[in-house]
Amino acid sequence: MIAAVMEAIGEPLVLRQVPDPSPAPDGAVVRVAANGVCRSDWHAWVGDVRVPALPHVLGHEFTGVVEAVGSEVKTHRPGERVIVPFSQGDGTCEMCRSGHENVCEHVHLPGFSSWGGYAEYVAVPRADANLIRLPDGVGFVEGASMGCRFMTSFHGLVDQAQVRAGEWVAIHGCGGIGLAAVQIATALGASVVAVDISPAALAMARELGAVATIDARDGDAVKAVREVTGGGAHVSVDALGIAATCRAALMSLRTRGRHLQVGLPTQADHGQIPLNINAIVARELQVLGTFGMQPSRYPAMLRMVERGQLNPGRLVTGTIPLGKVSEVLAAMSGFATVGVTVVDRFTAA
Ligand SMILES: [Zn+2]
Ligand SMILES: [Zn+2]
Repeated sequence: MIAAVMEAIGEPLVLRQVPDPSPAPDGAVVRVAANGVCRSDWHAWVGDVRVPALPHVLGHEFTGVVEAVGSEVKTHRPGERVIVPFSQGDGTCEMCRSGHENVCEHVHLPGFSSWGGYAEYVAVPRADANLIRLPDGVGFVEGASMGCRFMTSFHGLVDQAQVRAGEWVAIHGCGGIGLAAVQIATALGASVVAVDISPAALAMARELGAVATIDARDGDAVKAVREVTGGGAHVSVDALGIAATCRAALMSLRTRGRHLQVGLPTQADHGQIPLNINAIVARELQVLGTFGMQPSRYPAMLRMVERGQLNPGRLVTGTIPLGKVSEVLAAMSGFATVGVTVVDRFTAA
């Protein structure tokens, strides 16, 4: 099969013929139809996130068709259209057994723990748990655009922050994950104020439902959010993971507000961002994380997509051949990408 192979950190991926994967007894092989290009790929590409060994194949936001299943697989058959969660449980730990496979103690991340979707075929472990049927009404590209950022936002806003209709949600950082959060929070009945430094990203946030946008270059974003929301947001989202957006998101909350951290810090921050603990204590703020989404929550999200309440396809700003992934990753170094780019063909150009 053709794969885009990472042979060295930070160097362009190389299109190569590599051996086809075969399914484990409890696993499946999926013929990839589409795979989203994500900032998490970029984190691995620049070396922030370690992969087991080089050469390696990235890609964790994929949809496709089941090509083959192992002898122990009971609920899936070749020919099925599927979407695959990027944070997969082993089924044995306390988190898996309580329905939180996405935060499994031995979590498996396709495209990081093993070779991923920048290839014609991917091996998926524990297929009965980790393959989710993609409804006929949801396209492969649209499905891939949900594969990580969208469903992470969905789980974060719906399950973790528990956004309610009528609340103010302030979203700091309008890349793929922030724009997904804008659309989902709007669909939940919240009023969204979006913050970014890119006029193009803010324009897209408005198109996706934001009722107010703030250009953080114009001055004090915290003050601006507090003014727009009449005293602070009920829920704030840091969708970027840098100190400036994380602190601004936390401080733009009203008393008893909930902060949702979605963005991951870069290696330069060593995963650490100092926060105003006095404010967290005195104003009873909550700080919540979110990581992927467990398989049992996919049907709820996919139903909203089927009914048109959510439209992840609107976040897709372009589809590319496999040979162009490196260009998108390079553009991410300068935060020059808007929306979501999806690979939908396995050619060089
Ligand atoms: Zn587990
Ligand atoms: Zn991703």
